[in-house]
Amino acid sequence: MTSTPIPLTLAPREEQVFPKLTPEQIARVAAHGRRRRVQAGEVLIKAGQQHFPFFVVTEGQLEGVSSTGMTEELISPLDVGQFTGELNLLTGRRGLATIRVTRPGEVIEVKRDDLLALIQTDAELSEIFMRAFILRRVALIDRGFGDVVLLGSSYSAETLRIQEFLSRNAQPYTYIDLDRDSAAQQFLDRFHVSPADVPVVICRGQTILRNPTNAEIADCVGFNQDIDATRMRDVVIVGAGPAGLGAAVYAASEGLDVLVLESNSPGGQAGYSMRIENYLGFPSGITGLELATRAFTQAEKFGAQLMIAKSAAHLRCDRKPYAIEIDDGASVPARTVIIATGAEYRGLPIENISRFNGAGVYYGATAMEARLCEGEDVIVVGGGNSAGQAAVFLADHARHVTMVVRSDGLSESMSRYLIQRIENNPAITVRANCQVVALEGAAHVERAWCRDANGNNEPENVRHIFVMTGAVPATKWLEQCVALDEDGFIKTGPDLSRDDLAAAHWPLARPPHLLETSLPGVFAVGDVRGGNIKRVASAVGEGSIAVAFVHQVLRE
Ligand SMILES: Cc1cc2nc3c(=O)[nH]c(=O)nc-3n(C[C@H](O)[C@H](O)[C@H](O)COP(=O)(O)OP(=O)(O)OC[C@H]3O[C@@H](n4cnc5c(N)ncnc54)[C@H](O)[C@@H]3O)c2cc1C
Repeated sequence: MTSTPIPLTLAPREEQVFPKLTPEQIARVAAHGRRRRVQAGEVLIKAGQQHFPFFVVTEGQLEGVSSTGMTEELISPLDVGQFTGELNLLTGRRGLATIRVTRPGEVIEVKRDDLLALIQTDAELSEIFMRAFILRRVALIDRGFGDVVLLGSSYSAETLRIQEFLSRNAQPYTYIDLDRDSAAQQFLDRFHVSPADVPVVICRGQTILRNPTNAEIADCVGFNQDIDATRMRDVVIVGAGPAGLGAAVYAASEGLDVLVLESNSPGGQAGYSMRIENYLGFPSGITGLELATRAFTQAEKFGAQLMIAKSAAHLRCDRKPYAIEIDDGASVPARTVIIATGAEYRGLPIENISRFNGAGVYYGATAMEARLCEGEDVIVVGGGNSAGQAAVFLADHARHVTMVVRSDGLSESMSRYLIQRIENNPAITVRANCQVVALEGAAHVERAWCRDANGNNEPENVRHIFVMTGAVPATKWLEQCVALDEDGFIKTGPDLSRDDLAAAHWPLARPPHLLETSLPGVFAVGDVRGGNIKRVASAVGEGSIAVAFVHQVLRE
């Protein structure tokens, strides 16, 4: 997995993580804060504090200390011209580090709201702060610093779920593998945790969560601020994949009051990609996680409120303004709604499969994936048309394609012309009555195990598995509110027929805008939309286009 560095200049990395402001830059910060004297030993920010300010050192020295509740570790001393803060200062989450004074002197204290105003108006300081905050978060994650401890087992799916949730939310944490770590028992005893309670999450050394849900972890770690359920939002965006995040950045930067609900973690499907190489502006590729973290930070910088591990459970479309009911029982009113809930690829029931997403497991067969498996053997899982098309396409690039099909053959689920092409192609073999049941490999898939009809497991030395078992749109929560196509994807704009509009009692003289559903002021963008091109760039583009129409609807 490679990641694109953030540098906007060629300065060495350490200088970008802990830069020194010039006297002119310090003077510009001072205009937004107040100078105050500080004494040695004084604690300016306590780890776990929900609301905390930003400090620039103008005399003396500060130090940042990370604490798990069990141990304390020095992160870095901060000298004159250097400043405190990392991503949580922007996102309004709890502070990860304690900041205390090691040498008496003077600091400039800036409240969070004043810092946000400064970042929006001073491009040079914004670049320095944003880059430092993001790089500091990356360093905290790399060094395993943070105020969360996860005790679990690498063989447990629940442990993997929590690791994935913390990682995909860029939350640094310490992992203690109970199968390997001899000090683990000490931890368990100290917190009176029985082996049956694992995985266990300890937040800020205080709260113990036994096999918690993602929502419980989000609450404990402080991912979300309270929702003001009485506040009418200009737009509520449901889903924080590329389409939802794209919409959030454009809507918030254009002055709209935006709330984003995300049932899991920002980034959606793209967040699972180990390397996105076809997204504009990233010639050496970018990990889905990094793209999502940047977009999330960008949306929050412009003032969008994002709620993590909060699912939209129901759209109240029988009233205006609309309301979105959240799975925790809250209900938020909205003048307009952007549905960006995407689609879930039907995966394979293999425990460690997410570890190989983009590293040997793919859900689409484009020229990019074809290049990756040039001259190598591949497996295509599935017996439908998408699997057949993928097999035929990949056979031009790979050495050999094995189609693994659960049923007796292809005839039930695939078009005749595709079956003929597969049968006539010596580079494709069909293994019927077979399933992929396990994957092995270090950083990349190296071997797959296939189970035949007799229950025998056979290894295949293969590095590329294409899972083409179809995608299911995430539209259940909408019930009957908007018109769907025959596959359950949302119909929008010109795709809505007269009959669709009549059935939906479309009340306006104008036809639906591009990307507008059969419900006025409710838009659908990205993979959840019928006819959408399943790409990160098109999802982001549709998010931004929908915002242009949101403005028009708000003026109606
Ligand atoms: C492994 C993998 C690799 C890929 N690689 C590439 C690539 O390299 N290049 C490329 O262009 N495309 C790639 N794609 C395709 C691309 O990721 C998708 O087209 C894109 O993510 C679609 O974005 P979206 O926002 O519409 O939907 P999604 O990414 O599916 O995001 C939808 C979000 O909505 C949330 N959600 C769902 N229901 C609810 C609810 N009720 N309430 C709140 N939130 C909800 C989900 O949790 C999710 O985060 C890849 C896809 C996968 C799976």
